[in-house]
Amino acid sequence: MLRIYALLSICILFCIGAFAQAPHQERANDKEVNAFVEKTYPKLWKELKKIEKEGTAVEFFTSMKGPGRAGKEKIQLNQSYFNQPRPAFPEDRLIVVVLHEYGHILHAKKCREKGGTQF
Ligand SMILES: [Zn+2]
Repeated sequence: MLRIYALLSICILFCIGAFAQAPHQERANDKEVNAFVEKTYPKLWKELKKIEKEGTAVEFFTSMKGPGRAGKEKIQLNQSYFNQPRPAFPEDRLIVVVLHEYGHILHAKKCREKGGTQF
């Protein structure tokens, strides 16, 4: 059910800021963020591991606008949403964020395979 909801939001929100140019951003300490996610959000952790297993990297950054974005072939996430509890962003919402960005990457990949432009 959560996946269906996530896929629906992917369809609805597809064009919003998909490949917006990012200002300079600093990589976060992935180890620390991953340790927090693994301990605090087990469902999200499982999704992240699944995405990585399917060949898409997930990276955390310190200064980003919003919770996440799709890079060319990587998911870029704002560490401040993933390294501390945020009442407005409970685990299910973070999963939707991650699956939404992953949807952009899968869509772009499909477009490249068809030989078209990304968007
Ligand atoms: Zn989007």
